[in-house]
Amino acid sequence: MTSTSLWRGVLEPLEAEGIVARVVPAERLEEVRARADEAMTAAGFAPAVIARIRLDIEHGFPQTEHPVRSVVVAARGRPLTQADLTWHGESRRVLVPPHYAGYRDVPRAMARRVDELLRPAGFGATLHQPPLKTLATCSGLARYGRNNVAYVPGLGSWLQFGACVSDAPPPDDAAWGDPQLVDRCERCSACLRVCPTGAIGGDRFVLHTDRCLTWHNESEDPFPDWLETAVHHCAVGCLRCQQVCPENVHAELVRAIPERFDEAETATIVAGDDGQALSPATRAKLARCGLDYSLALIARNLRLLLEA
Ligand code: SF4
Ligand code: SF4
Repeated sequence: MTSTSLWRGVLEPLEAEGIVARVVPAERLEEVRARADEAMTAAGFAPAVIARIRLDIEHGFPQTEHPVRSVVVAARGRPLTQADLTWHGESRRVLVPPHYAGYRDVPRAMARRVDELLRPAGFGATLHQPPLKTLATCSGLARYGRNNVAYVPGLGSWLQFGACVSDAPPPDDAAWGDPQLVDRCERCSACLRVCPTGAIGGDRFVLHTDRCLTWHNESEDPFPDWLETAVHHCAVGCLRCQQVCPENVHAELVRAIPERFDEAETATIVAGDDGQALSPATRAKLARCGLDYSLALIARNLRLLLEA
């Protein structure tokens, strides 16, 4: 069996389960690291910020008991999650963009599935967390939009990426190259026009991250003075440029059933303590709708939305 046919026996069942993936030689991980560093520097990130981002990703070759020969990058569609919070006697719905719910569990599950599919051939796979958008776009799995969001055919941007490494040899025909821009971006500026903070610059491809709402409401740093309260519309993140994007027209955004929180639960969540006061049932609901991202940060963002 060639390595290409071995991987076909993995990728085809994954696709039937709604997971699209690419496999590339593990040596590419070093290049992915270098490209991600370069992109962050080009975006003007301070060294301290780059160091903070690096805490969330793994670089280079992972330490595993088996030789690492290939890396799999995968994507699966994810729903918009919602929470109905009870605030001063009223039910208030808040939105959480896809990929916050299951941020860690979904990549773990995809890695487990790749491992299961490789086992009959005598190989295995282990979760790895390289810079995922860089890996996905260089492997040809995804393309960048002008908003610097990654799009996968059929899924649009409503997705979650994950990666794993394997001791199986990579396919002989693994594609690789510079990240490509979505074709439509050449003649479209919908995201640029709708962005509430002017983060998508006509003068350059790289996002003005320091202007992006997602950057600020995912950070525990105080909001900058110029950021108007009215632009907040999600518990975390921002949907504006993705909602307006024509690349998402044919990618169905599934809305998950809202998780309901009563007045006492909402008050505890918004108080933003370390989670000790939350029951296991409340914590499970928070996880299902992606509000377990960071309890203190979510509490701050929710206060803004609820008090608006
Ligand atoms: S809205 Fe238009 S320009 Fe922006 S990412 Fe989508 S297709 Fe590209
Ligand atoms: S996520 Fe929001 S703030 Fe950031 S670029 Fe898109 S529309 Fe602008």
